[in-house]
Amino acid sequence: MTVNTMIPVARPWMDEQEAEAARRAILSGWVTQGPEVAAFEREFTEAVGASHACAVSSCTTALHVALAALGVGLGDEVITVSHSFIATSNAIRYCGATPVFVDIDPATLNIDPALVEAAFTPKTKAILAVHQLGMPCDLVSLTSIAARRHVPLIEDAACAIGSAIEWEGEWHRIGRPHGAVACFSFHPRKLLSTGDGGMLTTNDAQLDRSFRLLRQHGMSVPDAVRHASDTVIFESYPIVGYNYRMTDIQAAIGREQLKRLPAIVARRRELAARYQDALQSIDGVIVPREPRWARTNWQSYAIRVGAWINQQTLMQRMLDAGIATRRGVMNVHKEPSYPAGTWRAASGLTQSEDAQHTAVVLPLYHQLTEEDQDRVTRTLAAVIRDL
Ligand SMILES: *Cc1c(COP(=O)(O)O)cnc(C)c1O
Repeated sequence: MTVNTMIPVARPWMDEQEAEAARRAILSGWVTQGPEVAAFEREFTEAVGASHACAVSSCTTALHVALAALGVGLGDEVITVSHSFIATSNAIRYCGATPVFVDIDPATLNIDPALVEAAFTPKTKAILAVHQLGMPCDLVSLTSIAARRHVPLIEDAACAIGSAIEWEGEWHRIGRPHGAVACFSFHPRKLLSTGDGGMLTTNDAQLDRSFRLLRQHGMSVPDAVRHASDTVIFESYPIVGYNYRMTDIQAAIGREQLKRLPAIVARRRELAARYQDALQSIDGVIVPREPRWARTNWQSYAIRVGAWINQQTLMQRMLDAGIATRRGVMNVHKEPSYPAGTWRAASGLTQSEDAQHTAVVLPLYHQLTEEDQDRVTRTLAAVIRDL
């Protein structure tokens, strides 16, 4: 019997260039937030088309900084989805605010804009929309609701670097941003990684200044600036901030990762098209599709399986055959850290719950070979046939 090698569900693409960049930062004598972070921020603004980018330690801290800078605080409400990684809602709770959940559109796994209006109360302070698994959410509808209601729209773009939406007849990168601010992640499950790391983008200079204060203890003059100055500068601390810095070692790695972005997006879109061709005829499998106005980076490729298919059995048989999969996105309101009273539902959440139990994420990463991908689709077809 031939023993198949394991196919993981995801894998970062890093090489000698990243190792060399980390070495350069380490030997430079400045390892925390400094010149490499500043350069990474500049290059990131160019990559997404934003005026400002502020690097932080993760997307979770980026979301916290965004909400805090926009004045979200104790007793406020923020409209979002339960159907997301838990960090989306946790960031709202860090501010003492309450997440108000609306259901998703099953076609995109993203917030259903038709349900957002009904979620507003006088306490609503912001909308936090997620580009789930890299698939752009309906920013045209959401920005118009946010404008009409005079609340900021925050984009959880953790997974969406390299994704794009059609905006007034042109393709725009996610992160310009289209809301007040977009937050990105550099966790290894995302397209670009710095180990851990995050980025906030905005076109509002005042907001960007708040982000910079909040990420570094509320310090008026950063240490890197004082270090480079030939006059003595005393800093002050006008607000209570956090230590959410990215290090220069991470930023040096991020700059190399950013150069790979076009190739990564192109390869993932190519592999996703191959999945679609191979899977769409399998009975019981619904393949994901992008809306006409969206171009996803396919951060994750999640199929939906028919109700008669047991998700866990399917995933176990795939694993037995050496293929890792993951179930659909979690639902925050089902977790013990979210007891009644810590959140509110503005609609039924049946589409969110259904998606968790019927979505299966298949292996997709830059280095996935067509041979291995064919093994995934062949095995999936065989497993479903034998269920
Ligand atoms: C990964 C992820 C986060 C958290 O990102 P970190 O950088 O790991 O903090 C937040 N929101 C969504 C939707 C994510 O997928």
